[in-house]
Amino acid sequence: MTGAKILIIEDNPLNMELASDLLEAAGYDVVGAISGEEGLRLARIERPALILMDLALPGMDGLMATELLKADPRTSGIPVVALTAQAMKGDRDLALAAGCTDYITKPINTRTFAQTVAGYLYMGLTLEGKKAA
Ligand code: MN
Repeated sequence: MTGAKILIIEDNPLNMELASDLLEAAGYDVVGAISGEEGLRLARIERPALILMDLALPGMDGLMATELLKADPRTSGIPVVALTAQAMKGDRDLALAAGCTDYITKPINTRTFAQTVAGYLYMGLTLEGKKAA
């Protein structure tokens, strides 16, 4: 799955840079958006294999953005994994309720991040296969 396109929606420049660097080093094609609005637009244009969604975004938050992605047939099949601050335990339940596949807690673990993402990509393919069968 090297070369798979991943959309990161994250407003914090340091988090964005770290996540992008780790995924690019692992061979992924990374697209970044710094707001939910931009993320929705890029999801429709870029058709990423996976979306990593910061929940705390200015303007439209990550939960709303996820709900809109899931409500749009053009993007509803793209798995969304939330990026949540460790303290925000309630956010995890809300993320799953909004349609996220799972969540990754921040700060991200630099040793395991790319492998964790690879697991979600594989899961997405498996789900697609089941849907097609
Ligand atoms: Mn944020």
